[in-house]
Amino acid sequence: MQIPGIHHITAIASDPQRNLDFYTSVIGLRLVKLTVNFDDPGTYHFYFGDSQGKPGTILTFFPWPGANSGRVGTGQATAVPFAVPTLAGWTERLTAAGVAVGSPIERFGEQVLRFADPDGMPLELTAPTLDGSFTEVTGFSGVTLSVQNPEATERLLTSTFGYTTLGTEGNRTRFISTAGDTVDVLREPEMRRGTMGAGTVHHVAFRAESDEIQTKWQLELSKLGHQVTPVLDRQYFHSIYFREPGGVLFEIATDPPGFATDETPDALGTHLKLPPWLENRRSEVERILPKLRMPGVR
Ligand code: ZN
Repeated sequence: MQIPGIHHITAIASDPQRNLDFYTSVIGLRLVKLTVNFDDPGTYHFYFGDSQGKPGTILTFFPWPGANSGRVGTGQATAVPFAVPTLAGWTERLTAAGVAVGSPIERFGEQVLRFADPDGMPLELTAPTLDGSFTEVTGFSGVTLSVQNPEATERLLTSTFGYTTLGTEGNRTRFISTAGDTVDVLREPEMRRGTMGAGTVHHVAFRAESDEIQTKWQLELSKLGHQVTPVLDRQYFHSIYFREPGGVLFEIATDPPGFATDETPDALGTHLKLPPWLENRRSEVERILPKLRMPGVR
């Protein structure tokens, strides 16, 4: 069994409108699902992705108005890198949106632009080149994890998940999945532990192609001594969670049923969707949720 790459990354934000505007207008992702936090239905759950909401392009947020900022640190995903064919035009676009951005750096032969979202969450754009003309984000290039002692995390990625080691630059070791997305593990012995809050990543979800494969992972990971949760129904996928040895919360999420299960591909993200067990409380939920101006609507 091999993990065929990242399914989604989930993070915490504060102001919902600011988060929605940034990821749609500035980063250029599509809102592919507008729903609520199933454990806290007075809070939104935003899913951003490519036009079809393919696994591997999905960044999700729980935006809590007025949420305290978290601290980016060890035991967390400490950068979310997006892939673009070229960095051309991106410095101008980010600067015009009021985003502070430095000069591109080179890493593993790629050009990398580093900046942060409005809550301070570290983001990157990675591209093979600076040349050409502006192009949109195509999805994640991977994820970056910061841990104090990376050995056990690296063993999990290679021996268990089936990632291949690509190389090491400084304190960064890069692993690649069969799908071509990467996990960078940073050795950070001096960095403080991260704390949850706005501007931090909550968990990283990896793909399972089917429920059967997910069940096999649940057994396999338990056998290896990881504390794995039961399968949870997330409406658009099924999830199991465990904390990897470096402290980062990992999830394994199924590709099916996907985001087109309760609205057509054209209409993804245009209406508030609720799971069946919350549908009879819709009017109450809609009353509590902060009002939103939808992307593209003036
Ligand atoms: Zn998740």
